[in-house]
Amino acid sequence: KFIVFEGIDGSGKTTQIDLVAKILQERGRQVVCTREPGGTRIGDMLRKLLLDPANNDLNPRTEAFLYAADRSQHVTEVILPALEAGKIVICDRYLYSTIAYQGWGRGIDTGFLTGLNGLASGWLVPDRVILLDIDVDKGLARALGERSPDRLEIEKNAFFQRVRQGYLEQAKLHPKIFRVIQAGEDKQEVNRRVLTALDLSR
Ligand code: ATP
Ligand code: C5P
Ligand code: MG
Repeated sequence: KFIVFEGIDGSGKTTQIDLVAKILQERGRQVVCTREPGGTRIGDMLRKLLLDPANNDLNPRTEAFLYAADRSQHVTEVILPALEAGKIVICDRYLYSTIAYQGWGRGIDTGFLTGLNGLASGWLVPDRVILLDIDVDKGLARALGERSPDRLEIEKNAFFQRVRQGYLEQAKLHPKIFRVIQAGEDKQEVNRRVLTALDLSR
């Protein structure tokens, strides 16, 4: 099983992935938690490059190619081998982040991004996408609690409004795999909703 968590910065992806992985492990399942950008040695180098505020001369199209390169390495090196070994893969962001951030956020054509990232991932589609949907101000307040404000301050509210909208549109386009969770509540309540959406509540 391939499960992806998506949502704007501060929506609670990493928090919820930790909680779900713990529950699955307690139930004796083999779980691989991974993330994008990153997740491989090459990917971690690309992550540093992509997230360094000093690289603000990176143009949006180049940025999109680097995210696709990261994804290509990640699918080949981590995700596919784990799935083939029968493990549950939980991924913090996947190509839906690219459509939302590089597409809706930065204005790169979403059809182009879909094609590019389809090639990069070998068209690997997850079984389930958990979209943690949250008010932009609330998400950013959470995210800023733990991270230097540089990048977030530059991009600000309007950018993240477009990203959030981009995620919701994708959920409408792919209703069979997407589950949209209202993520503004406390961690335990959000976790209950996530477990229900993954058919893991009991
Ligand atoms: P990013 O995209 O920036 O990595 P994220 O979606 O992974 O963000 P987290 O890192 O899980 O978000 O959460 C951001 C911050 O908000 C953390 O400090 C976390 O402890 C806190 N947080 C997570 N979920 C909740 C919640 N439901 N209520 C309040 N605070 C939360
Ligand atoms: O979720 P994570 O903390 O790993 O994301 C790191 C940063 O990368 C986030 O601030 C997010 O805004 C950015 N990002 C992006 N485009 C993507 C994926 C992540 O701009 N496709
Ligand atoms: Mg995170």
